[in-house]
Amino acid sequence: MVTAGRPPREPDGPLNPPIVLASTFHAGGPVGYGRYGNPTWEAFEAALGRLEEGRALAFASGMAAITAVLETVPIGALVAVTLHGYSGTLELFHHLDETGRIDLRQVDPTDVEAVRAALPGAQLLWVESPTNPLLEVVDLAAVTAAARAEGVRTVCDNTFATPLGQRPFDHGVDVVVHSATKHLSGHSDVLLGAVLTRDDAVFDAVLLQRSRRGSVPGAFEAWLALRGLRTLHLRVDRAQRSALELARRLREHPAVRRVRYPGLPEDRGHAVARRQMRGFGSLLSVELAGAAAADALSAATQLWVHTTSLGGVESTLERRRRWASESTQVPEGLVRLSVGCEAVEDLWDDLAAALDRLPS
Ligand SMILES: *Cc1c(COP(=O)(O)O)cnc(C)c1O
Repeated sequence: MVTAGRPPREPDGPLNPPIVLASTFHAGGPVGYGRYGNPTWEAFEAALGRLEEGRALAFASGMAAITAVLETVPIGALVAVTLHGYSGTLELFHHLDETGRIDLRQVDPTDVEAVRAALPGAQLLWVESPTNPLLEVVDLAAVTAAARAEGVRTVCDNTFATPLGQRPFDHGVDVVVHSATKHLSGHSDVLLGAVLTRDDAVFDAVLLQRSRRGSVPGAFEAWLALRGLRTLHLRVDRAQRSALELARRLREHPAVRRVRYPGLPEDRGHAVARRQMRGFGSLLSVELAGAAAADALSAATQLWVHTTSLGGVESTLERRRRWASESTQVPEGLVRLSVGCEAVEDLWDDLAAALDRLPS
């Protein structure tokens, strides 16, 4: 990962790929025009492809990547979709269902029997693990086995775990999507998405969607994401060690009703996460008394930044239900924490001070 996507070694050649700003290329090659390809995207795709061990395509955002995969199914296709997950994805699925583009069937992804029952006639099974923001863990091997038996393709959003924390292809997943905006880029300055697959027909179909619809990334964004990817292992190691420590301390705090983190032995996703993941990720959620307490915590921290998004070097937090689009399955008092790379004691001191000041 530290070296993939670099130009060939040659005297005075640059170590890193240059940012190729070109809308058009001299005629005679396989690309020709900037909507069909770009050497800077390809460098990012080569590096990410090495990490997930699949063929990668970069997109303008995570949502653009998700849309491109969905556009490969016929009009009216039955799509079995996780009940829990990123609100933007679920909003899109509901919109596509309402307009007749797909036939949406929602299912609790942690209930393998319910997933099995939802599969007959479906074209895709769409899951996310761990889920945003409830941190539910899906048994990928179990749901993909059920999907295979029905001839259904499985798509997994691997944004939360990253390719270092979880390798969906090893568990039978056919297509992986990422919001590279988050951990892969890692510095809260890029919007980017990616689709990965080992199936050449799927790759070609998704590439066609990108080329036709023009949901292409900028060269600068791809370059920044590649630069971020070089330190992914360091950031993930640090952040997930801190996340586990913070989860352990938070569950002892009297203002905290529940900590959701698959790394805690009592968490309902722990057993599957131990089998399926390397580490437990850098996101956790805490449930406080209600919306007022959650808003007060978000407003009171000094080091933790009150903002949406996740996966950056800086630790961030937000009450998810402040968004009208968030699922009503998410408690009003739930605060999602994205742990960054600061010193864990500084993070704890700031959180503990803010929690201690909450009116009881
Ligand atoms: C943020 C996010 C997305 C959407 O990605 P964008 O880059 O914001 O378009 C998709 N899935 C998950 C799990 C996310 O957290």
